[in-house]
Amino acid sequence: MPNDCIFCQIVAGDIPSKTVYEDDSVLAFLDVNPLAPGHTLVITKDHYETLGDLPEDTAMDLFSALHELTPAVETAVDADASNVAFNNGEASGQEVPHIHGHIIPRFEDDGGKPIHAVAGDRPELSDDELDEIAADISGSQ
Ligand code: AMP
Ligand code: ZN
Repeated sequence: MPNDCIFCQIVAGDIPSKTVYEDDSVLAFLDVNPLAPGHTLVITKDHYETLGDLPEDTAMDLFSALHELTPAVETAVDADASNVAFNNGEASGQEVPHIHGHIIPRFEDDGGKPIHAVAGDRPELSDDELDEIAADISGSQ
């Protein structure tokens, strides 16, 4: 592990966390600077930076934990909904370069925004450009 990684230090027990879930490959704990009550981070115990870096079995463990935890978090804080999201890479706003999913509880009239608000200006794309992008994505898996 990179020993300057704050989340690796949490996994190792060197930095305390308010843990809410743990299994062999995943750890979840409350965000220290929450955007809402119950804001939870779900991380892999092994150090990977982005979603694309994850081996398939670890990705399945991570998404399985998100699937189980999201309704549990919502129930615990009596939320109406949640945003579940990854900052995936530095340019997206990822500050801690150790993959983590955010579960952010949402409440009616909480003043927050939908996930559509995170990107920059919407691009104007023609149908041909959309076809080209779709083909490039299909061809690069
Ligand atoms: P991101 O911008 O997606 O990398 O988000 C990193 C998140 O980690 C932020 O929401 C921080 O509040 C949170 N965070 C940073 N250090 C800690 C820590 N020691 N314990 C819990 N959450 C942390
Ligand atoms: Zn790490």
